[in-house]
Amino acid sequence: MAHLLDVHTTLNHILADLGRLPAENVPLPAALDRVLAEPVSAQTALPPFANSSMDGFAVRAEDTASASPETPLRLPVVMDIPAGHAPKRPLARGSCARIMTGAPLPEGADAVIPVEDTSASWQAGDPPPNQVVITRPARPGANVRPVGEDIPAGEQVLPAGTLIGPPEIGLLAALGYATVPVVRQPVVAVIATGDELIEPAEALMPGKIRNSNSYVLEALIRQAGARGLRLPVARDTFAAVRTLFDTALAQEPDLILSSGGVSVGAHDVVRHVLDALGEVQLWRVNMRPGKPLAYGRVQDVPFFGLPGNPVSAQVTFDVFVRPALLKLAGRPDDTRIVDAILDEALSTDGRMTYFRVQLRRDAGGALHATATGTQSSGAMRSMVLADGLLIVPAGEQAQAGQRYPVRLLRHVP
Ligand code: AMP
Ligand code: MG
Repeated sequence: MAHLLDVHTTLNHILADLGRLPAENVPLPAALDRVLAEPVSAQTALPPFANSSMDGFAVRAEDTASASPETPLRLPVVMDIPAGHAPKRPLARGSCARIMTGAPLPEGADAVIPVEDTSASWQAGDPPPNQVVITRPARPGANVRPVGEDIPAGEQVLPAGTLIGPPEIGLLAALGYATVPVVRQPVVAVIATGDELIEPAEALMPGKIRNSNSYVLEALIRQAGARGLRLPVARDTFAAVRTLFDTALAQEPDLILSSGGVSVGAHDVVRHVLDALGEVQLWRVNMRPGKPLAYGRVQDVPFFGLPGNPVSAQVTFDVFVRPALLKLAGRPDDTRIVDAILDEALSTDGRMTYFRVQLRRDAGGALHATATGTQSSGAMRSMVLADGLLIVPAGEQAQAGQRYPVRLLRHVP
C-alpha cells in the first residue's frame, strides 16, 4: 500500500500554508458575526460627560448635609436640564436643578437626588417646581455616572480577532464606528464531479444519484462563517473538470473545494487536472473515512479535493476544511472535543477511524457513545443521527468500556 499521510501532519501542513485574509470595511450592521481585523480603542470616553442616572434634582452634596426629616431643607430650583441639552451655567451654591436621566450634570453639582426622595412630582410636560424639599443628605457622587466610568478615552476595548456579537455592535455604535474593519469573509467555490450526478430537482434515471455533496458542503461552509459558491457538476473527463476549475478560478475564490474523482478509479481525473493547473501538495491520508483527500494550490488558490462518498466529504470537511476556513477568517479553531465511554467494541482496519456516534449521559453525568448504525462512508443517515465523531487512533481497535475523544458535531446537553 502506498504511503498514507498522518492526520495531524496533514492538518499542520494545511494550516501552515494558509494565512488570515485581508481586512475590509463594512457598514456597522453588517459587522455582526464577522471578525474584527484591527484593535478598537475608545476615541471618546464612555460616557462622554458626567450625567445623571435618575430623574430628579442635581445638587451640591455639601449643601444638603443638614437635611433631615426634622430639619427639612428647601432648595430653589434654578435650572431645568433635559437629556440632550447642555446646562446653561454652573449650579450656584444653595440651589438645585431639575435633571433627567442621561442629562449632563451642571458644573458644581456632584450628586442627584431622585424625585421619589423629594417633595416634588410631575407629569410629562410639566415645568419644574420653584423649590423642592429634601429630608436626607445626598452622598457626593450619588446617582451620577462620571465621565469615562464605562470606558476611559484612549483605552483599547476590543482586540483584533474579536468575533463581533450584538454587545460589540452596541459598543462600536457608541464609539462612533459607522463602518468597521473586519476580516474579509472567505469565499469558497464548490465543485462536484461525477458522471452519475444529477441535481435534486431532476428525476432519477438508471445509474444516476443526486448530487448531495455540493449542498452539504455549501451548508457547512456557511456554518463556518464563510460564503460558498456552488458551481455546476463536472463530468468525469479531464476537459470537463478542467473547464470547471477555470470557471471556479474566474470567481476569484479564497478556496476551492471539489468532491469526488480524487481516488484511484479509472475516471478519477481531479488530481491530473490539478497537476496540470497547479500542484498537489498532499494526497491520501491515513484515516477512515476520508483516505483519498488531496490538498494543494491551483494558480495559487488553496484547494481541497474531498472524497466523493458523502460521509467522507463531511468528515474531511470537519477535520481539515473547517479549521482552514477559520484560519483564513482570523477566528480561533473552536472544535469541541469531549471524552466519552464507548459502549460497544468497533473494529477498524488500522487507519485512524472516525466513528459516527450518538452520545448520552448516565446518571453520574458521564458521556457514553454508541455507533449510529452502519458506518459505511456512503451512509448519510449515520451523519444525521450523529452527535459526534469518536476518534480511534491509527493501529488500534475500539474497545467497549474504554474512553475515547469525540469531536462534537452538534450541541450535547
Ligand atoms: P468518487 O470519489 O468519485 O469515486 O465517489 C465515491 C462515491 O461517492 C461514489 O459512490 C459516488 O457516486 C459518490 N459521490 C461522488 N460525488 C458525489 C456527490 N456530489 N454527491 C453524492 N454522492 C457523490
Ligand atoms: Mg466519481
